[in-house]
Amino acid sequence: MKPRVAFFEFSSCEGCQLDALNLTPEELLDLVGVVDIVNFREAMSERSEDYDIAFVEGSVTREAEIPRLQGIRKQAKVLVAFGACASIGGVNCLKNHMPMDEALKIVYGKDAKYYDTIPARPINAVVRVDNYIHGCPPVTSELLKVVKALLLGKKPDIPSYPVCVECKMAGNVCAFERAMFCLGPVTRAGCSAVCVTSGRYCWGCRGLVDEPNLESEKEILQKYGLTIEQAKERFKMYNTYSEVTK
Ligand code: SF4
Ligand code: SF4
Ligand code: SF4
Repeated sequence: MKPRVAFFEFSSCEGCQLDALNLTPEELLDLVGVVDIVNFREAMSERSEDYDIAFVEGSVTREAEIPRLQGIRKQAKVLVAFGACASIGGVNCLKNHMPMDEALKIVYGKDAKYYDTIPARPINAVVRVDNYIHGCPPVTSELLKVVKALLLGKKPDIPSYPVCVECKMAGNVCAFERAMFCLGPVTRAGCSAVCVTSGRYCWGCRGLVDEPNLESEKEILQKYGLTIEQAKERFKMYNTYSEVTK
């Protein structure tokens, strides 16, 4: 019997799930050949509460999401945080810099009283997470890599080195040399440095690398006349929940 896979969304733009649908027809066929997808709101109307592997997108920003997430954890043998909102809190956590009633007013105006919210958090702040797929949105190849590893009973091999490694391999001119401010030296690789290759810089959407070389980061910042405080400010975009920005 094929493992039953379910996708769930919490507070998010649902771009991670949408991106999963960008798999090529061949990749999608490969995927449905090895797993049964039983829950995927963006792709199918059938629903099942009987699943083995849960991919959870989005962060937790409302009280009601806590018991829902705990219920998914109880059912799933394997729970995967899918994308930056789920794995590190992501952009949702930007609202944590202000009182929650102020955040509600900014978003809902005079209707704020009809809504509730709590400080945003990644899903591992609520339940145990077995595996992570990083990025905003994740690269689809990583989703396939994780599914394959899980089917083989292995731990998925997610890079634990910084984006700079892939950036150099891509032959990019460093963003610092183009008068930009890049978080690649401390951000987890796995995206092939796509933002730098497209002419921009890294915003840190894949979160902090496991063992960041902070001394080297300081040296780079100093070389280009920048400060740790500026780097922390930039890092808050996706990583407000991280201790590093506190
Ligand atoms: S990680 Fe990015 S693409 Fe995915 S749900 Fe969050 S904001 Fe959207
Ligand atoms: S700092 Fe940014 S642009 Fe420079 S090498 Fe690293 S990832 Fe590439
Ligand atoms: S370069 Fe940085 S911001 Fe862009 S996808 Fe990779 S980790 Fe995310």
